[in-house]
Amino acid sequence: MNYITNPSVMTAEKQRNMIFSLKRAYPFLNVQLIGKSLCQRGIFCMSIGRSENPLLITAGYHGQEWLTSLAALRFAELLLMAKSRGLTLWDTSIACISREVIIVPCVNPDGVEIAINGIDGAGRFAQSVSKIQAESTEKWNANARGVDINHNFDAGWQELRAMEIDSGILGPSPRRYGSYAPVSEPETAAIVDLCKMRKPRMALALHSQGEEIFWEYGEKRPKRSLELARIFSAASGYELVENDGLASHGGFKDWFIEFFNKPAFTIEMGKGENPLPLTDFDSIMEHLLPILTLAAML
Ligand SMILES: [Zn+2]
Repeated sequence: MNYITNPSVMTAEKQRNMIFSLKRAYPFLNVQLIGKSLCQRGIFCMSIGRSENPLLITAGYHGQEWLTSLAALRFAELLLMAKSRGLTLWDTSIACISREVIIVPCVNPDGVEIAINGIDGAGRFAQSVSKIQAESTEKWNANARGVDINHNFDAGWQELRAMEIDSGILGPSPRRYGSYAPVSEPETAAIVDLCKMRKPRMALALHSQGEEIFWEYGEKRPKRSLELARIFSAASGYELVENDGLASHGGFKDWFIEFFNKPAFTIEMGKGENPLPLTDFDSIMEHLLPILTLAAML
């Protein structure tokens, strides 16, 4: 099968080209610019289907997890193919997916560029990135000024900041620094604004790795969350887990659950060492497709 979203290293430019190639092949795909990164790279939102109680799928929060962006784009392509030809998706009739699906394949395009292309990807932040990086930029997760977007959402942010300081993360860092204030970064703000405007009924955030599903925020468990999490787990083989330590606050899923009191999930796709190799992609999609298809239906 020849896909527009063929596996390749997912630079911001490659992603942009894929998004617009999909738009050309499937004109009913809606593409919208919802924000710009610190280095002025576009943050794109794709939407498919009737505008009603949308499902939101987000990916590319962490630089070295750029394979999550490919997964989100592949799901978009499979959904577009199925819709345009009346085919099935994961053996499910496309008629079951009537509501809108919104996909933001890359929340942190600068981080992805830095992880792939090193300081050359950091634009006017090249000097500070080279100062911050403790090892190879291949392991970079943050945005261009060393803020971890998934530590920057406004949910238990103070507690998270205190935990970061306890573990020696005092300032900009390749990962796990939540900034001086919540939602200080344009990448975080783009997602927050999109959610406030579109009010999704459910949200997914793709990360790697671990083959795990995070589904609650502290004691907060919106109606249907556990039920949906169990369905996703049974369909994918991914394990349900509880938040722990530095992953307990400040994430997108945490904020979405707290702000909307609706289900949100962090899906840790794949297993191994980040960045996961392109050769893992097909087998990852076998686990992920059931989750994304069911999320679009339920
Ligand atoms: Zn991540």
